[in-house]
Amino acid sequence: MTQVEKLKKNLLTGQRRALAKAITLIESTRADHQATAQKLLAEILPDTGKSIRLGFTGTPGVGKSSFIEAFGLYLTGRGYRVAVLAVDPSSTRTGGSILGDKTRMELLSKDPKAFIRPSPSGGTLGGVARRTREAMLLCEAAGYDVVLIETVGVGQSEIAVADMVDMFLLMLSPGGGDDLQGIKRGIMELADLVIVNKADGDLKAAAGRAAGDYKAALHLMRPKFSGWTAGVVLASALKGEGLDQVWRQVQSFEAALREQGELDRMRADQAKAWMWSEIKDQMMDAFRAHLPERLPEVEQAVMKGKTPPTAAARMLLKDFLK
Ligand code: GDP
Repeated sequence: MTQVEKLKKNLLTGQRRALAKAITLIESTRADHQATAQKLLAEILPDTGKSIRLGFTGTPGVGKSSFIEAFGLYLTGRGYRVAVLAVDPSSTRTGGSILGDKTRMELLSKDPKAFIRPSPSGGTLGGVARRTREAMLLCEAAGYDVVLIETVGVGQSEIAVADMVDMFLLMLSPGGGDDLQGIKRGIMELADLVIVNKADGDLKAAAGRAAGDYKAALHLMRPKFSGWTAGVVLASALKGEGLDQVWRQVQSFEAALREQGELDRMRADQAKAWMWSEIKDQMMDAFRAHLPERLPEVEQAVMKGKTPPTAAARMLLKDFLK
């Protein structure tokens, strides 16, 4: 049996160790690992696509990891197998990660029905996103029913995650809707469901008011899908409240999109967009690997205003494609 065949067999029978190993392989930058990983991905593709893919975002401190842990345990308690992945490009820029530094989801990580993997580190956001997408496919092949992908509200990572999941969930805290807590309007537009966390104790009343504000804000936005209107759910990760409601919303969302064939259409579009972003990345890599000798000279000419940037780019690409 080749390495790929063995890994595939162990992966498809749901062996966690095989899943972890396969993800390590796709995260590796070594050319031989990459070749094996791509072979494996091609092999397991028919066994992917059966899970529900959920993206979670929210500013640090809103309670994402607390909620995902509670929600994950809620789901495993109902017999589902749950995988948690993360996209944290902060580790790329600063060397320290926002999501990964604390000990997270201790209970869920001990649950045999759960699999948790921190964000791949290093490389561009595009690279991190690609490896997470591939990890998601591996989790599906390994039989996980629900894949949760967490990201922080920094930079473009929410968009990258929204582009790889079925449903995008935005977590907000009871701070009120006036300033939307620095959440960019664009992120609100991506949301298929808003969860107002920390709706407990002293914060309960404020959470109720905030939910009203968010509902009004969502109401003004153009719906992403014809069959679905984004709503607001109150939750408390601390008390385990609202989990049932969130899960019901997820199931209604999935049913609504499936009914009109929108889920398959969206996944097909995502796969196509992914291919094109791969083409772009791989072309850039190839270009950077064969930089022409006269590049500094051309750059200087552009900087001094002697050559128009477009003409310079065209000239360099023409040379490259020869
Ligand atoms: P993350 O940075 O978004 O992952 O947030 P964490 O899950 O680490 O939570 C940040 C803080 O908020 C922690 O101190 C949690 O204990 C607290 N927290 C999380 N969920 C709740 C909740 O439902 N209610 C209350 N009162 N506090 C919460």
